[in-house]
Amino acid sequence: MKRRSFVAGAAASAAAGWLGAGAARAWAAAGETRYDLIVIGAGTAGIPAAIFAAARGARVLMLDAANDIGGTLHLSTGQMSAAGTKLQASLGIRDSASAHFDDVMRISKGTADPELVRLAVDNAATTFDWLTDHGFEALPDHPVLGQGHEPYSQKRYYWGAEGGRSILAVLRRELQPSVDQGRVDVSLSTPVTALLTDDAGDIEAVRVKSGLAETVFRGRHVLLACGGYVSNPQLFERLSGVRDYGDNGYPYSQGAGIELGMSVGGFVRGRENYLSNFGSILADDQFPAKMFARFVVIPQQRQPWEIFVNARGERFIREDEPSFDKREMSLLSQPDLRYWIVFDEEILTAAPPGVGGFSREEIREAFDAHTWFIKADTLPELAAKAGIEVAGLQRSVEDYNRGVTERRDRLGREHLPKKIVKAPFYAIRHQGHSTTSTVGLAVNGALNVVRARGEPVRNLYAAGELLGAGQLMGQSFVGGMMVTPAMTFGRLLGQRLPIGGVHA
Ligand SMILES: Cc1cc2nc3c(=O)[nH]c(=O)nc-3n(C[C@H](O)[C@H](O)[C@H](O)COP(=O)(O)OP(=O)(O)OC[C@H]3O[C@@H](n4cnc5c(N)ncnc54)[C@H](O)[C@@H]3O)c2cc1C
Repeated sequence: MKRRSFVAGAAASAAAGWLGAGAARAWAAAGETRYDLIVIGAGTAGIPAAIFAAARGARVLMLDAANDIGGTLHLSTGQMSAAGTKLQASLGIRDSASAHFDDVMRISKGTADPELVRLAVDNAATTFDWLTDHGFEALPDHPVLGQGHEPYSQKRYYWGAEGGRSILAVLRRELQPSVDQGRVDVSLSTPVTALLTDDAGDIEAVRVKSGLAETVFRGRHVLLACGGYVSNPQLFERLSGVRDYGDNGYPYSQGAGIELGMSVGGFVRGRENYLSNFGSILADDQFPAKMFARFVVIPQQRQPWEIFVNARGERFIREDEPSFDKREMSLLSQPDLRYWIVFDEEILTAAPPGVGGFSREEIREAFDAHTWFIKADTLPELAAKAGIEVAGLQRSVEDYNRGVTERRDRLGREHLPKKIVKAPFYAIRHQGHSTTSTVGLAVNGALNVVRARGEPVRNLYAAGELLGAGQLMGQSFVGGMMVTPAMTFGRLLGQRLPIGGVHA
């Protein structure tokens, strides 16, 4: 069989179903070879684990349900945070892992897991330096303090021109030699369906499915790196406790790792940390729905001319609230994570267009084309059409208009350019939704999956989103605290697992 190149990417691998000559060997050897490490999921966490374990001489098998490696890196913005990097030093930025730790705990209001956060930030710079040493290029003006999330106290936030794909390009390149040399076997379109244990409860093997065939691979260590559950609406609702409104995750993020971990006694944690983003205009009401557009609700980018109301017609946050976290937290207590952005004709005419990427004319056209854009001649009619309580909306608009006249807003809003008085009136519906999974499999500080009483499943590890966004970010969104920890934990496991007598 000819060796295939990872660099060729999805097209070649999709056709083959496999990557690397080792994959054929893997099947031939199924049941015979005992791998040092089986990595379930060739994504953000899994690929670094395979690269670093192979570099120590380990025999690695990496299995993925998809027909390409990369996982969520194909979609991710790929924003990373790391303190004490070579890039920072070259720019004269003095930073430290402990300052990074303090920021994560401050932004998460103390809700993140300090042990895992410490492990992630203490080792983030080495991960980031490794990436840049191997060809990753951050955007020219990076690092920055923040974007789209609460800012850090120091510039330690970076990403590449192609987001997650800029990272994946490096990982592909660095994995390929290990595949060529037969140290890593990669098998695509091969979902793992079960973990098999011995009498002691240790993991002995994994069962995989490929087409109609089922095969068993034996391994000394098994790493669950198969991502979150954001594309599994049933599991999402069961674990997060809210409906899965948005469809913007990696399709293979089905929560398989959670099911696999729980099948051998693992348990999940972090439901209390659920947080949605501050909402988007989705394609329709068929949830989970794709994103249609986003109103610019970040006052640092566009000051609000409109008001935000919930289904009761109540304003629930000053619309020019500068804190990302306060805005996101305020949406949590609104019915169905839903609100409407309400304005009138004068505002539509005078304000900078509010829907990202839309001209004023395109916004006007959307009121004839999309059911979440609602237009009416009176406020009561607008409320009725939108599904907002009529009296509530009228009260809120009167109250807001009084605040504009008196230059004093009840919620403390400072940007008060215009009253809402002139028909037609407009409302654009917004829906809070998630791109990541909050709840995750419980692990200890060595990333060992643990059972309910705290004892580890000796040779089973987990890394990446499978740990739950709520562990590394708590009930908040902390910039770069998913991609960087995923890669870092994968790397650390690859470097530290006791393999063939080789210990880091
Ligand atoms: C749109 C978007 C933007 C984001 N932006 C950022 C950002 O800027 N910064 C940040 O820090 N985080 C961001 N995130 C989150 C971050 O990208 C993810 O949390 C992270 O990439 C997940 O890494 P992972 O290794 O856990 O999973 P993945 O990278 O998804 O890898 C998991 C792999 O497991 C495979 N798999 C699944 N089930 C099985 C199975 N049964 N058997 C075998 N293989 C299986 C999948 O196919 C996949 O390849 C974003 C997420 C999204 C969706």
